[in-house]
Amino acid sequence: MQRYKSALFVFFVGLGISNALCAQTPGFSGLKADAVESVDSMAKLTQEIVDSLFSFSELGFQEFQTQAYLTKILADNDFDIQLGVAGIPSSWWASWGSGEPVIALGSDVDGIPRASQMPGVAYRQPMIEGAPGHGEGHNSGQAVNIVAALAVKEIMERENLPGTLILWPGIAEELLATKAWYARDGLFDDVDAVLFTHVANNMAVSWGDSRGTGLVSVEYLFDGVAAHGAGDPWKGRSALDAVELMNVGWNFRREHLHPLQRSHYVISSGGDQPNVVPSYASVWYFIREITAEGIRENFDTLQRIAEGAAMMTDTTVSRRIIGAAWPRHFNRPIALAMDENIKKVGLPTWSEDDQRFAKALQTLMGADEPTGLATDLSGIGEPLPSPVSGGSDDIGDISWNVPTVTLRYPANVGRLQGHHWSSAMAMATPIAHKGAVAGAKVVATTMLDLIQNESLLDDAVDYFEDVQTANVQYVPFIGPDDDPAIEKNAEIMALFKDRLEELYYDPSRYDTYLDQLGIEYPQFEPTVIQRNR
Ligand SMILES: [Zn+2]
Repeated sequence: MQRYKSALFVFFVGLGISNALCAQTPGFSGLKADAVESVDSMAKLTQEIVDSLFSFSELGFQEFQTQAYLTKILADNDFDIQLGVAGIPSSWWASWGSGEPVIALGSDVDGIPRASQMPGVAYRQPMIEGAPGHGEGHNSGQAVNIVAALAVKEIMERENLPGTLILWPGIAEELLATKAWYARDGLFDDVDAVLFTHVANNMAVSWGDSRGTGLVSVEYLFDGVAAHGAGDPWKGRSALDAVELMNVGWNFRREHLHPLQRSHYVISSGGDQPNVVPSYASVWYFIREITAEGIRENFDTLQRIAEGAAMMTDTTVSRRIIGAAWPRHFNRPIALAMDENIKKVGLPTWSEDDQRFAKALQTLMGADEPTGLATDLSGIGEPLPSPVSGGSDDIGDISWNVPTVTLRYPANVGRLQGHHWSSAMAMATPIAHKGAVAGAKVVATTMLDLIQNESLLDDAVDYFEDVQTANVQYVPFIGPDDDPAIEKNAEIMALFKDRLEELYYDPSRYDTYLDQLGIEYPQFEPTVIQRNR
């Protein structure tokens, strides 16, 4: 470290004045000002990545076009690429540089079923009826990370700074189905810090126990005996009966669970036709709780209920873990450093059109008084006096393996519906593009904190060891034999692949995806939309 500090000193003396003059974001100087300027110069690349992933509209475990597109950008910029890590074909691992610190940037890439939606229009208009779409905004996070990494890489090369940059995707995050597997397979063993990014409607970082839950996602598979439903039903043993009894059992048990738990299920297979006693049926549960201990306890209860249902119906039962997520805990020193950068970067400058569009979406979704896009930072998230329930993210498992923070960056409109087409409407518009650029500035400057300030990493490790994990031992919910559910969503994507391909964004012909779709942003009234001109 000592060696580069003196190199840095020479650099500051040499370039200090010109840097001060060209700093574009107030408050930054030196290498951070350079990084911010470099991110700004890559606004076009940011927009292309955001729009491209939006147009690919890929569901979890099937993010192959996304994989090909992103890894090409990274390979073209001298990153070493490994495809298909942790036994997950659509995953990848990109690394550049050498030595410490090892900084890993992650963000999710998968979409939402049935969320296909034309961007930039303030009314419901699927691009392809029934198709997947980016109804959360996972199309924007890799743009944040890649642009930040390229900006910092350029500085590291110029200044001869040591360090290793890693980029990785959250595959199938909507199924919470890969990050525990990455951790289990040791991908983060040599990583010093993880900066994770997630789309939001403000820009913030948090530390300590996060609001929300962790979970086990598990499918119970029942086998019975088929028979003629009218001819000799007494010879049959219905797997569907077992599924229904299991659900009844769980729904009665709900009353006696801790009120902060969340659990939900879908019947993933309910038999074939009514006159054939179902010999096979399955039900897929999400079991969420605010503590790892609570998740484990409820999972045990669910298991006994499944076995009870099998006993009642003379069927047999097996189970498969589809996803797993520990409750999240984020690193305090890194979050504090990142928060300083957030305050300097601030929120994007929204145009009049952006605000009109955001308010129109909020009105569409039932807001009486639409507030539009955030113009004030929400501030750092600190541990809550009492836990709050809600969703989960499998970044939790990584946060218990390596000091981790999540940057929430302002690329979507607030007060819309989650996991819904409304949350796709802004995700290939200037709102998403500007939000991703702002996020990239925060990630890049925080990477420089980690690279330049050796004590930050020491503090992060101290917090991780002496505070976060002092009384909690990470024991994953998955075992060595739980395979990732890589076949999920394959059938849906096969169904829509050809039609989606026709709508892929072509940056060589169109400035933006909105241009390609013939949309005059912001569009408030339906007109004839020319798709794929
Ligand atoms: Zn997400």
